[in-house]
Amino acid sequence: MKNFKIFSVFVSLIVFSCISSDKSGHISTEIPSESLENFGIAIHGGAGTILKNQLSDSLELAYKSKLEEAIRQGHLLLKEGRSALEAVTATINILEDSPLFNAGKGAVFTNRGTNELDASIMDGATLNAGAVAGLTHVKNPINLAHKVMTQSEHVFLFGAGAEAFAATQDIEMVSTDYFYTKNRYNALLNMQTKETTKSALENKSPFFDPYIRASKFGTVGCVALDKNGNLAAGTSTGGMTNKRFDRIGDAPIIGAGTYANNATCAVSSTGWGEYFIRGVVAYDISALMEYKGLTVKEASELVIQEKIPKLGGDGGVIAIDRHGNVSMSFNTPGMYRAHMDKEGQLEVAIYK
Ligand code: ASP
Repeated sequence: MKNFKIFSVFVSLIVFSCISSDKSGHISTEIPSESLENFGIAIHGGAGTILKNQLSDSLELAYKSKLEEAIRQGHLLLKEGRSALEAVTATINILEDSPLFNAGKGAVFTNRGTNELDASIMDGATLNAGAVAGLTHVKNPINLAHKVMTQSEHVFLFGAGAEAFAATQDIEMVSTDYFYTKNRYNALLNMQTKETTKSALENKSPFFDPYIRASKFGTVGCVALDKNGNLAAGTSTGGMTNKRFDRIGDAPIIGAGTYANNATCAVSSTGWGEYFIRGVVAYDISALMEYKGLTVKEASELVIQEKIPKLGGDGGVIAIDRHGNVSMSFNTPGMYRAHMDKEGQLEVAIYK
């Protein structure tokens, strides 16, 4: 009996703390705001054959500190109550401005010696999306993708038309020289002349990266959950070294490189784009959650560890669900990645 009384008092205290009344006596049964304020963020800087013995300590440190800088910026915005979309664009901007990643400043070269950039973004709250491809003058392609989503009635703009639209918006344009980096240009020459180093010769992948002397998909991406329960995803890339015929990969394709839906998850991909388009990777992960009831981890693992390898492709994804659960699955030896949860717990990693 005594135990029952103690138990009743305990239950009343819990109920009382959840049901509060305002000055007019109106009773509110709203969920305490604390429990609504979950948030989290994850980023990638490309997957690939990234091996510890191919990365010098200083380069490893450079990658890790850039990933940390970017994710901390996104986390700060989410902590301040800003939207998942704002966190995604601000975080990707930092990676786009670094020559380390194959996006923005560090974009790879096409067969004709140009840099052609692609990006996409999606809002999980509205299923609205924006995408751009074949850009040659836009410093931060993710910002233009965001403008396409919010300021146009379209979803996907290409090349000169996309840049004409950019000129009507508050978008920073640069001369094509901005995207020149010696390292990426050498990668193109190596691939074209085949006068390569031994390790490059062994590695015929169009994603060969001389920085790390291995094959790497250097696309960048970010997924975020904000305090309002909204999910967003974004992806930005220079594509594939020596690409021809206006080749476009998965990064700007909604459903392949990027997808977000508040009911399921937000996903950003990196990998051999042709396979990720055929596998409709980002949407497949969301659909497996929606129609089969898989968790974000189960869905990502199924697609990346089983379905994509079966097609013959490789790469990885980052994904976050509406509860803040994160999956960073890849079937390559490494993927530049980072994750930060509501508490500010940081994980930055490269290798398996
Ligand atoms: N998925 C990109 C593409 O195929 C490459 C990457 O992830 O780095 O264009």
